[in-house]
Amino acid sequence: KHLKKYFPIKGGILKRTQGHVKAVDDISFDVRENETFSLVGESGCGKSTTGRAILRLHEPTDGDVLFNGENLIDVSKSSFRHLRKDMQLIFQDPYSSLNPRMTVKKLLMEPLLTHKLATPKEAEEKTVEMVEKVGLSTEHLDRYPHEFSGGQRQRISIARALILRPKLVILDEAVSALDVSIQSQILNLLKQLQEEFQLTYIFISHDLNVVKHLSDRVGVMYLGQMMELAETEALYDNPLHPYTKALLSAIPSINPKEKENKERIILQGDVPDPSDPPSGCPFRLRCPMAHDRCAEEIPRYIEAERDHWVACHLYDE
Ligand code: SF4
Ligand code: MG
Repeated sequence: KHLKKYFPIKGGILKRTQGHVKAVDDISFDVRENETFSLVGESGCGKSTTGRAILRLHEPTDGDVLFNGENLIDVSKSSFRHLRKDMQLIFQDPYSSLNPRMTVKKLLMEPLLTHKLATPKEAEEKTVEMVEKVGLSTEHLDRYPHEFSGGQRQRISIARALILRPKLVILDEAVSALDVSIQSQILNLLKQLQEEFQLTYIFISHDLNVVKHLSDRVGVMYLGQMMELAETEALYDNPLHPYTKALLSAIPSINPKEKENKERIILQGDVPDPSDPPSGCPFRLRCPMAHDRCAEEIPRYIEAERDHWVACHLYDE
C-alpha cells in the first residue's frame, strides 16, 4: 500500500545537488493467494525494486507491505526473520545467487539448517525429494553449479527456494536468460510446483508473451508508477492505458492473421531520466494521446472497469 522506494543521488559538478530517484513512487496493489501476479514494464520502471522492497531487501522509503494481515514494515527483526522464510526470491541469473563452492546437496540443505527447520538427516531427505521434484536426478547431488546448464541451474535455485516451503515466491526475470525452449520447460515446472505447493507468485518480467501465458493478473509499471492493472485477459484484449497499448502492439505475433489487424504503435523517445521525471503524467513525453492536462496533473489511479485499474486522464474526464 502506497509503497515508495527513493534512492538518494548526488549530482552536479560540485556534487552539491541533492536529489533522489523515485524508483517506486506510491504504488498499491494486492496479490491473491495462489495466483500469479505479474509486474511488467521496461527496464528501470521499478518492478525489481518493488519485489525487493516487499522483502525489505530494499527498505521501503514509505508505505506498508501487508502479508497475511501483518505489516512487514512494522514487525520486529526477529518476527520478520521468521516470516521471511515464507517469502523467497528467485533471480534471473542463478549463477550469481548459487555459491559456486557448494554442491547441490549443500546448497539445498543449507537453508533448512540455517532456519533450524530440520535435522541434518531430515534435511538430506528433503533435499533428495526436492531435487526430484524440480526434475533433476539424485546423481546430481554432489555436483557444483558450474557443472550444469543455465536451465538446470535455474532448477537448482527453484529447489533451494522451495525447500523452505514458502507461501510467496517472487520471480525476478527468472526465465529471461534462458533459450525459448528451456524457458517453456521452466515455466511448466513453475506452474506444476505452484499447484503442488499452493504457491503464490509475483512474476517480474519485461516479456509480455511469457507473462500472458503464466499470469492471472498483470500490473504495468512505468517510471516507478502503476499505469494499469487488470486480469490477464482483460489487459491483453482490452488494454486501456496508451502505454500498455504501445507495449502490446510491439509484441511479435505468433499468429500471422493477428498481425494484419494489429497496428504497431511506435513509442517516441526513450524512458525519461528517472531522477528528472516529467511533470504530470510520467508517460506524457512519449504518449500519442497527450494533451494539456497531462502536463499539469498527475492522473489518478482509478478503477475504470471492474477490477481494471488505470492511471490516465482519458478515463477520468
Ligand atoms: Fe497519455 Fe495523458 Fe493518459 Fe498520460 S494521462 S497516458 S499523457 S493521455
Ligand atoms: Mg529488473
